[in-house]
Amino acid sequence: MAYDQNNVFAMILRGEIPCEKVYEDEFALSFNDINAQAPIHVLVIPKGEYVSMADFSVAASPEEITGFFRAVGETARSLGLEKDGYRLIANTGSNAHQEVPHLHFHILSGRKLGPMLSR
Ligand code: AMP
Repeated sequence: MAYDQNNVFAMILRGEIPCEKVYEDEFALSFNDINAQAPIHVLVIPKGEYVSMADFSVAASPEEITGFFRAVGETARSLGLEKDGYRLIANTGSNAHQEVPHLHFHILSGRKLGPMLSR
């Protein structure tokens, strides 16, 4: 799947639409989800143009992969989530209901999240 330069997260990265920034470094940007599903619901996206985990895991450089995963951990750390824990979700493709075609990890926390999947 070709990368769509006009997806909403590409627009956020270009500063064309605003976001509530939580963390940023050379490799990643983290911001609050606009439709929070938990008291803490943050998205972490790589700065590079990757459609999904499928794309990123083969096409990204080792530096981008390391930088992105460190940013996911650092975002959670900066929010103080390590003591009580958090959940990571990276919806990939249609079975997982991925809506935005730019790789993103959801960080969810702030309450007991219950079973992993709703039916
Ligand atoms: P997914 O279904 O995994 O692709 O998740 C996409 C997520 O992006 C959803 O949780 C949306 O609420 C969120 N989202 C969509 N547009 C925005 C936006 N402009 N700012 C922040 N989050 C957004």
